[in-house]
Amino acid sequence: MRLNIPFNHPRRESLLIREKLVDGFRKGIVAPEGLIAHGRGECFDYILGEKTQEFALRAIEAAAAAILLANHPVISVNGNVAALVPEYIVKLAEESGALIEVNLFYRTREREEAIKQHLLSHGAREVLGVGEDASATIPELFSERRRVSPRGILIADVVLVPLEDGDRTEALKRLGKFVVTIDLNPLSRTARTADVTIIDNVVRAMPLLVEKVRELKGRDREVLKEIISRYNNNEILQEALRFISHRLVELASRELRIRV
Ligand code: ATP
Ligand code: MG
Repeated sequence: MRLNIPFNHPRRESLLIREKLVDGFRKGIVAPEGLIAHGRGECFDYILGEKTQEFALRAIEAAAAAILLANHPVISVNGNVAALVPEYIVKLAEESGALIEVNLFYRTREREEAIKQHLLSHGAREVLGVGEDASATIPELFSERRRVSPRGILIADVVLVPLEDGDRTEALKRLGKFVVTIDLNPLSRTARTADVTIIDNVVRAMPLLVEKVRELKGRDREVLKEIISRYNNNEILQEALRFISHRLVELASRELRIRV
């Protein structure tokens, strides 16, 4: 930690998250493009009030049910996710029996290995998708972006892809996967293509998802199926956009100038 951020700083949480990403960048876990992608997310978080909203809680419940019902759930991890929430990736894998797979947009041998070691140091039992293990390919995607593990994403029925790129989310859907994402932007292609979109910051959503999986774990499969059949992702996307527009309209009717 290089920065000394005062406890009452209004952007304290946000600055601490940035520090984690910059540390991850220095350790070779986060790609430079990942730092920029985070900025796009931050902008939406600012507008969402930097809090988990009701539409995110409903999506988290559906996500937990889908992961628990899956025969072969996989958590896809990129540099940003590994840097921000390594402990919750490991906890989610443990609680749900999901496998962890490194899945990078900008794949390099060094970075995939750095991410694997980072996750192992946080208690992961196994990390797929690294080196020789990423030997299968997803059709239609180009170059390194299409490599996956034949024991992981290739045969998964439910895939959690936090902060994923739209092309790859679409490719996963075409392969018939049930896709769950965490994405702050309700307008991204990933958000609009996934089956369940948790519109929230990954740092808030992952702990809540782990908690929800723990809570629903003992429930009857019928109860879990009922949660999924009641769930409508289009409604969630619409609610998020309505929330954003109402919040901006409400803010626009207030005195905004800060007097010091
Ligand atoms: P798409 O390819 O799905 O249309 P995009 O091209 O707009 O999305 P990408 O850079 O491909 O964006 O994907 C990164 C996504 O991750 C963005 O939608 C961004 O809002 C989101 N994001 C970034 N940081 C976070 C975070 N901490 N928590 C949740 N979402 C985040
Ligand atoms: Mg994209």
